[in-house]
Amino acid sequence: MDRYQCRCQYIYDPAVGDPTQGIPPGTPFSEVPDTWVCPQCGLAKSYFVKEVGKPTSDQGHPTIKVKVKCFSTLVKEQMCDYKGSTEHELLEGSTIHDLIEKLSLPLDAVKIIFLNSKEVGFDAVLHDGDQIAFSPVTGAM
Ligand code: FE
Repeated sequence: MDRYQCRCQYIYDPAVGDPTQGIPPGTPFSEVPDTWVCPQCGLAKSYFVKEVGKPTSDQGHPTIKVKVKCFSTLVKEQMCDYKGSTEHELLEGSTIHDLIEKLSLPLDAVKIIFLNSKEVGFDAVLHDGDQIAFSPVTGAM
């Protein structure tokens, strides 16, 4: 049975279920009620995606494309600008943290992260077509 992953990286494992919300072991994700939420972060069931399989030696790992903007001191020409979004290709299942490393942004300088206009943390998992913005200042951009 397929396992499903939350944006916070919690994984729903059908073999385990979720005893904290009365989901018995052996319950496939499709039979988990829509009222169920991530026991770790509280996100709704609809945010879960099927767990990404481990890459195999002879098959390429699936990739996603995301659009990135950087503001103020985080701006890097050609890589991350504030004027237009720059598109970057990442491995499926990559997080904000992976993206920051790829862009070689100073991790401790990134103070605000927007993922599709919602503020998120470094652990947020990215999906194809996501739009990300990095800002070094807390407060208005
Ligand atoms: Fe979660």
